[in-house]
Amino acid sequence: MAEDNGIHRRRLMATAGITALAAPFIARGGSAIAADGETMETSRGPRTDSFNLGDFKLVVVEDGTRVMENPGDTFGTGQDPATVAALLEENFLPEDKMVNGFAPVLVDTGEQVILFDTGMGPAGRSWGAGQLMAGLKANGYQPGDIDVVVITHMHGDHINGLMEEGGPAFPNASYVFGDKEYAFWSDEGRVGTPAEGGHESVKKLIVPFAEQARFITGGDEVAPGITAMEAFGHTPGHMIFMLESGGRQLLLTADTANHYVLSLQRPDWQVRFDMDKEMAAATRRQVFDMVAAEKIPFLGYHMPFPSVGYVEKTGEGYVFMPKTYQFAL
Ligand SMILES: [Zn+2]
Repeated sequence: MAEDNGIHRRRLMATAGITALAAPFIARGGSAIAADGETMETSRGPRTDSFNLGDFKLVVVEDGTRVMENPGDTFGTGQDPATVAALLEENFLPEDKMVNGFAPVLVDTGEQVILFDTGMGPAGRSWGAGQLMAGLKANGYQPGDIDVVVITHMHGDHINGLMEEGGPAFPNASYVFGDKEYAFWSDEGRVGTPAEGGHESVKKLIVPFAEQARFITGGDEVAPGITAMEAFGHTPGHMIFMLESGGRQLLLTADTANHYVLSLQRPDWQVRFDMDKEMAAATRRQVFDMVAAEKIPFLGYHMPFPSVGYVEKTGEGYVFMPKTYQFAL
């Protein structure tokens, strides 16, 4: 990443005329953070990837990335650190650090423009995240163009982008929330529990939209060709979505598996962020057994950008294969 930033810095300084003094830190997304913490627009937006699935057009945006320490503590909770380190090394990854990214996706069905999750929003700007809007604009979509915002689950990295400056980030949108997910987080009974922080966020970011929202359960259709499925465990009402158009399918797996090696090759390992760890592991098996058996592509919110790929079933789990040119043909 240091090397990467160096390249960005040279390019940004050349194209935007930013001096080293004015831009002490260059974010990975391509925007510059000035000394006062304000994000400055630069000529290079966040990474985005756009491709067609039948008649649907998809735009994946890298909302931001975050370096995390000790991936084994999160994605191999309770495992022998040497076992985790060996698996990472076998996959050409360091054991002490990892990069975790956020990938909201826009699906333009031709009839409706539907956004799945909203990234870190204003809460991420100080460290270079919250780039969803810039990425959508770079692909020709304005905030007012979004017809529907679908929330897979109500963790901060998925809902923080719902509001900008205290108002709706997507002024013309209606909302789709999981019935069970909403009931859990909006319940005052969360006060005094580990979910209290999440409850407070949901009161600020989700509850204000309840009147414009449709509440769904597994099997419900978001729009023609987009079907919700229950994938509980990561959170109590975590939802995933099957996209189908022109005879092609892609599954939006949201946070069913969040490390492309540790959680796919060892799906039974417990994950710190999974609220019901056993249910989440069982769900991972179910979802990725299906993805592997039917050979369908999937998009995982925290998979390496552009976050789309396939899995092959192996002895203990699955091997991730990033997409290449499958959608160009
Ligand atoms: Zn997440």
